[in-house]
Amino acid sequence: MANHMNDSLAKRVALAILNNVLRTESGCLLSLGRTDGRGKARIQYKDDGGYRRTALAHKVMFRAAVGPVPDGMPVLRNCWNVLCVEPSHLFAADGSRPYGA
Ligand SMILES: [Zn+2]
Repeated sequence: MANHMNDSLAKRVALAILNNVLRTESGCLLSLGRTDGRGKARIQYKDDGGYRRTALAHKVMFRAAVGPVPDGMPVLRNCWNVLCVEPSHLFAADGSRPYGA
C-alpha cells in the first residue's frame, strides 16, 4: 500500500520506478516495469522491515511527489495513459469534479 509508505521509503521506491521509464512526446512518463492483470504498472520493493511488497507504480509516484493519498481515494491520470507515472499527470479523485474531468 503506497499510502502507508513514509517519505523516505516512497522516494526510494520512486527512484526504482524511474530507473525503468520512457518519456513520450506528449510528456507522459511510461513505466516499463511489470504490470498486473489489469495492465497497471506495479513495482516490487522491500519495505523498511525487509518484507517484499508490491505497489501500484503511479500511487508510489504520487505519494513521493505530492503526499499521502486520502483513504480510499483512487489516483487517476489526466492523460488517461494507464502506464503513465508522471506526477504532474496524476491526481487523487476527491469527488469535487466529475470522475475523469
Ligand atoms: Zn501521462
